[in-house]
Amino acid sequence: MAFEPRAARSITVRAAAKINLHLSVGAERADGYHELTTVFQAVSLFDDVTVREAARLSVRTVGEGAAQVPDDPASNLAARAALRVDPDARLDIAIDKAIPVAGGMAGGSADAAASLLACTRLLGVDWGRAELSAAAADLGSDVPFALHGGTALGTGRGERLSPVLSRGEYHWVLAIAKTGLSTPTVFAELDRLRAKEGVPGAGAQPPDELLLALASGDVARVAGQLHNDLQPAALSLQPVLRRTLRAGTDAGALAGIVSGSGPTCAFLCADEESAVRVAAELAGAGVAKSVGTAHGPVPGARFV
Ligand code: ATP
Repeated sequence: MAFEPRAARSITVRAAAKINLHLSVGAERADGYHELTTVFQAVSLFDDVTVREAARLSVRTVGEGAAQVPDDPASNLAARAALRVDPDARLDIAIDKAIPVAGGMAGGSADAAASLLACTRLLGVDWGRAELSAAAADLGSDVPFALHGGTALGTGRGERLSPVLSRGEYHWVLAIAKTGLSTPTVFAELDRLRAKEGVPGAGAQPPDELLLALASGDVARVAGQLHNDLQPAALSLQPVLRRTLRAGTDAGALAGIVSGSGPTCAFLCADEESAVRVAAELAGAGVAKSVGTAHGPVPGARFV
């Protein structure tokens, strides 16, 4: 009698992309990171990470930009998260990506957060909130927020989170660029521009007006407070993004902003109907590789 091999148990966790509603960049620290003040919002664009027991650690990716995602466990953030949970982890990790790679939407961080949750559950590692957050911060500045989700204020490298009171739902149009931008290159460009203009690394600015606007739930007021210190650097590296930003506001968005280190451009719209209209017009303008809609805030990494 032949025995069927026992199907390995698998666990899938879904994690969301982020948009920085506010990002101010302070001076470079001794450890090479810049001091940041940021307000994150998690939006409805998701990667799924599925983990199952295997003979060795491996990682593979399908979906948006899969070819640009490293498949060696030492580099892939989802595999590095597995190794953080168990240095001898023998797991097969499958990533189904919708978040653009090197798009300024923290896709790699989302995968790391999802993998942390999936691996702790699968391997029966009983970490509390504090241990999970510490592991997340070790893996990358945006990983704690990818676990947390919703809307949050980030300080330090962005890894120290405080909750933010946010009312209402926000409707976005996302314009995904043809080529990505590396986050360290964008920070280096900001330093170069600041040195050239003789602007010292201004202190990271508290986003008081944005926090009041989010608490009020007034979308137009929030649109007026979107801010990203990295935007001039992203525009300097990819000047075509100016056209993308103009096309979105011409199409009727309340405001447009480069998301994080870019090059994804995020447009805040008055409501869902307006977002669908703006997305259609922007897609027709041919200024992006792809255009979609998303809403936020949505929860952080969770089991599916
Ligand atoms: P952030 O906004 O957090 O700065 P990003 O969204 O611009 O990041 P990511 O998609 O997170 O960029 O990826 C940045 C780089 O990390 C990629 O170019 C890729 O080489 C590497 N990387 C490692 N693991 C992953 C992963 N699981 N998914 C995507 N990229 C990964």
